[in-house]
Amino acid sequence: MRTAIISDIHANLEALQVVLEHIKTQNVEHTICLGDVLGYGPNPVECVDLVAEHCDWSLMGNHDFGVLYEPTNFNAAAEQAAYWTRAQFDAETDKETAATRWEFLGRLKVRVMYDRFLCVHGSPRRPINEYLFPEDAINSPVKMQQIFERFDKYCMVGHTHVPGVFTDEPDFYPPGDVEGVYTFHDGEKVIVNPGSVGQPRDLDPRASYAILDDDRVEFFRLEYDVQAVVDKIKAVSELSDWLGERLIEGR
Ligand code: ZN
Repeated sequence: MRTAIISDIHANLEALQVVLEHIKTQNVEHTICLGDVLGYGPNPVECVDLVAEHCDWSLMGNHDFGVLYEPTNFNAAAEQAAYWTRAQFDAETDKETAATRWEFLGRLKVRVMYDRFLCVHGSPRRPINEYLFPEDAINSPVKMQQIFERFDKYCMVGHTHVPGVFTDEPDFYPPGDVEGVYTFHDGEKVIVNPGSVGQPRDLDPRASYAILDDDRVEFFRLEYDVQAVVDKIKAVSELSDWLGERLIEGR
């Protein structure tokens, strides 16, 4: 079952369109989304519509939760972006369209078993909010052990915006260390993070996503018009300019 995995779009339409176009050329049967369609970016409504159209399902990310319910534990820029995002959905004048979008957001799932994979936005322990960082593989053996105990064999997460594969050694393999393809070994447990479509944080500004195919996962990076998004963010006073600057730097 060849499946495209996208995550952390963060209302970045330009990045999402490039990724969806690329997915079309990859002969996949399914596309799934690990959450955070919303937050930070200038095109939340358009991104929700595209995810609803192209993905089998999407998970509830902490930013989706913040827009739908309450933005708790957000920094000032993220909190202001969440309120602005909510206002964009409220501004829809067609009642039926507005209701469809709110219903889609209300149906976002906290955890999904997809084939052999437990899918969560954050971590199997705290599915919406907990970060699983690459450095945890070295610095936090107890955390890693507790997280790996929470699932059978395979898991996928988003949330950190850093692509790669965690193993139960524990170790972390960025795509660059494995030439973009990681093959699962017999007997090991893995956690796959496809990286972020709309706000990468591994110092590479290109959009990130992955394709899962049986016992291997392939990572892709795609150029998109970052400057167009930066300009849109600048034009919205409720979205901090810093949200654009970090897109240019990929952090
Ligand atoms: Zn995110």
